[in-house]
Amino acid sequence: MTARIIDGKSIAAEIRAEVAAGVEALIGRGGPVPTLATVLVGDNPASATYLRAKRTAAAEVGIGTFDHTLSGNATQQEVESFVTELSDDPRVHGILIQLPLPIDLDEQSVLTRIRIEKDVDGFHPINLGRLAQKGSDPLFIPCTPAGCLTLLKRSGARLEGSRAVVLGRSNIVGMPVALLLIKHDATVTVCHSRTRDLPQVCRGADILIAAVGQAELVRGDWIRPGATVIDVGINRVEDPTTERGYRIVGDVAYHEAIEVAGSITPVPGGVGPMTVAGLLQNTLHAAEIAHDRSAA
Ligand code: NAP
Repeated sequence: MTARIIDGKSIAAEIRAEVAAGVEALIGRGGPVPTLATVLVGDNPASATYLRAKRTAAAEVGIGTFDHTLSGNATQQEVESFVTELSDDPRVHGILIQLPLPIDLDEQSVLTRIRIEKDVDGFHPINLGRLAQKGSDPLFIPCTPAGCLTLLKRSGARLEGSRAVVLGRSNIVGMPVALLLIKHDATVTVCHSRTRDLPQVCRGADILIAAVGQAELVRGDWIRPGATVIDVGINRVEDPTTERGYRIVGDVAYHEAIEVAGSITPVPGGVGPMTVAGLLQNTLHAAEIAHDRSAA
């Protein structure tokens, strides 16, 4: 069997076009230009690159950005006061704090300074808590988990009653993905670094989501024939044959997995583009919330 490739790039392009149309429609009915405030603390080059990509993508769909860089020496209080100011600024609809923050800062405490209606990353404990509660919905779903769900849905995967295995339990990917799948009536097993016999657990999955940050951990013989595999991992492996000296691989051994899975996301070009598209969707939604509240 050769797996069907779930093309995150083209699905993300569809979503960006939908967001661009949504921005025009919002402005057309007297709403504001959706505006995202980005905050980078310090000068982590990878974070700066991710942010640049997000700003460019925002500009392409008509979303405005205010870009802020705080010194890597900023104190907890300085960062929190700054985020509180953005939360109170009516020109700002969404706030994105680029993570990780420098290690001496308490991320959770900073994130709680974001008003939940501006929490476009969906990491505020109230939004995450609502994701976990039956009968309540968050205002925003974290972008990478939302991207995984969209890929599953648009690739035709059946969620209801399916057995899903999520590898990883981080706050930003593994745990919210697991909660989302439960909300969509999958039966979910969450695995982590202490899980015993990981390959055997994975073999039970109709849907396998890998978010561990370990290059090609998941081998072809861990995958149930016909399963849907979503590979969130982004890992650098040395490769002297490339100009950069490395290449990017996922958490799944792709060339083994495509022989077994029913469908699979590539890395790059799978989940990655969906994360940015999700941020744009959430920012538009935040501006819609602001407009609806001001009109009420
Ligand atoms: P993280 O915070 O480091 O969490 C990794 C999770 O994997 C932890 O729960 C850890 O278990 C578990 N784990 C690590 N090694 C394991 C192993 N050998 N067996 C089983 N579980 C293992 O990472 P993250 O932020 O969730 O990111 C995961 C991956 O996704 C990374 O490659 C990251 O670059 C990528 N990512 C991609 C996107 C995108 O847009 N495509 C977005 C975010 C992240 P413990 O909890 O026990 O430590």
